[in-house]
Amino acid sequence: MSRILVVAAHPDDEVLGCGGTLARHATAGDDVHVLIVTEGATSRDDMRDPTGRGDEMRALRAAAAAAAHALSIQAPRFGGLPDNRLDSLPLLDVVKLVEKVVAEVGPEIVYTHCGVDLNIDHQRVSQAVLTACRPQPGATVRRILAYETQSSTEWSASGVFRPTVYVDIAAYLPAKMRALQAYAAEMRAFPHARSLEAIEALARWRGASAGMMAAEAFELMRECQV
Ligand SMILES: [Zn+2]
Repeated sequence: MSRILVVAAHPDDEVLGCGGTLARHATAGDDVHVLIVTEGATSRDDMRDPTGRGDEMRALRAAAAAAAHALSIQAPRFGGLPDNRLDSLPLLDVVKLVEKVVAEVGPEIVYTHCGVDLNIDHQRVSQAVLTACRPQPGATVRRILAYETQSSTEWSASGVFRPTVYVDIAAYLPAKMRALQAYAAEMRAFPHARSLEAIEALARWRGASAGMMAAEAFELMRECQV
């Protein structure tokens, strides 16, 4: 049994990036935890006003819980930091949040955002995870893998996601699609990159890139073999 932690900036990133892989971990008997760093709704306002978005944030938390249920993983934790404004906070605030959850869970494997994403929160979370999981004596984390998030990773102009690890999710693609249906309000109509059709197409392409029917692809950010 391995302990797994996913650190996602927004509700739905965890499913887009590695939902199939999480369902696969759960089936293997692994203990899978998710930290969603931001509240994931207030960026739609000009000024941050979480009080006026209470219903929406509650709905997003319920969607995240339903998605976790569809993947048979633990109910997510919510960091509640400001959505799409992580660049307005000291990075240390994000690092401290991730460190606290890493200490609670003691994960061996951590999944998080790819650092090149267009979305500023994704960039900050990726950086915070590398810092929070630095390989000090006594650290539990053995592998950090970066996932791609459709409608952010492929829209980057500052870098390229170069997958080096492929996980077969052919048996878990239905669970991933069910989890995304919990986030129906975040999904868009095809040909938007964050549509169910495009998400399945990417899973098929990542699979075909590695001789599988469907896959999720990752960049290995750090591995410590002991
Ligand atoms: Zn996101």
